[in-house]
Amino acid sequence: MTPDDERSVVRRSDIPPSVSQPVVTPLWPSVVYRTDDADELDGLYEGDHPGYSYAREGHPNADVVASKLNWLEGLPADAPRGIITGSGMAALSAVLLGLLSQGDHVVAGDQLYGRTRRLLDDLRRLGVEVTLADLGDSDAAGAAIRPDTKLILAEVVSNPTLRVVELDGLAALAATNEALLVIDNTFTTPRMIKPLARGADIIVHSVTKLLAGHADVTLGYVGTRDAALAETVRASAVTHGHTPSPFDCWLAERGLHTFDLRYDRAEATARRLADELALLGGVRAVTYPGRSDHPDHHRARALFGPRSGNLVTIELDGGRSAVNRFIRAVPNTAFAPTLGDVATTLAHPASSSHRAMTDQQRADLGISEGLLRISVGVEDADQLVPEFCRAVKAAC
Ligand SMILES: *Cc1c(COP(=O)(O)O)cnc(C)c1O
Repeated sequence: MTPDDERSVVRRSDIPPSVSQPVVTPLWPSVVYRTDDADELDGLYEGDHPGYSYAREGHPNADVVASKLNWLEGLPADAPRGIITGSGMAALSAVLLGLLSQGDHVVAGDQLYGRTRRLLDDLRRLGVEVTLADLGDSDAAGAAIRPDTKLILAEVVSNPTLRVVELDGLAALAATNEALLVIDNTFTTPRMIKPLARGADIIVHSVTKLLAGHADVTLGYVGTRDAALAETVRASAVTHGHTPSPFDCWLAERGLHTFDLRYDRAEATARRLADELALLGGVRAVTYPGRSDHPDHHRARALFGPRSGNLVTIELDGGRSAVNRFIRAVPNTAFAPTLGDVATTLAHPASSSHRAMTDQQRADLGISEGLLRISVGVEDADQLVPEFCRAVKAAC
């Protein structure tokens, strides 16, 4: 017992003793951790004892999420713990800033997530050279490689056209050229594919999307089985301050408990929605990797097996005005530039993710004013699908 004259509300309280344990991971917002003396702190920094010192360097809520994501991505228990960052972009910048130096060359997909393209542009400012190529085409990818290519950065399916990358070819190319293959698995998730088992060196996620899944968390993840790479990326993330919030990690862990369930439900609805929308007049095209009319259907089958994801892209006749009518005809579905929420969301690439491009650049990628990307959520398909079909009829 603390003597009365040493008690103070300012001083920290002891945690009440308990023989029982919470079943839910506690939230640890503490920025800093105390040790009993300088020797113990020294041992902690040296890695002789497990523990935490300062939240920027790491905290338990991040590590709980990192272990779950390592497991989802198929990493063995003795792989280095994944790195959780404050956003998906923080994960990408930790990888790129940690591993690249002036004069290094990067080959990247020409249809990457918009912000990732801007990050690559920013790296040019620091003397990193970048070649964008169609990574769905082995010849184009091979032609982009140079002797000084250090890293290949790809997403498994492109945004918003859902073209499927030549993953096995890229892995072979990376191996022959001693380049690192970095895969952003955000759209596909480890439920569709585990790229580390197919030759990728590093996996990156925007945990913000399907993994956390409730549009209330902004987080990223980096995973690898290579201890030296993990250490370099971790040091980059910590030094550049890409620290995740404990509360976001806590929410992400809760979201992950239902990831498989949410994914399966959304995928089943997406498949049905794609098939029903494709039958309607006014719908010029439906792009869904699970449909046999998808341009990369065979590759999708080979990489994803029976899986095909929760994203469906449609092109409406009538351009932007038809898109506007469609959006207004589904007032219970958010027109919002994200994906992977429990609720379905709609995105219009021409006015959002791809707005910085010229009309010609968009046309080259197949992104018209009539294109809508649907991120299918976990609503009842019997409600959602008829609503969307009615909206197409109202819009076109
Ligand atoms: C959203 C997204 C990112 C960026 O993630 P944030 O968590 O929003 O920073 C990166 N890559 C892809 C494919 C994404 O969809």
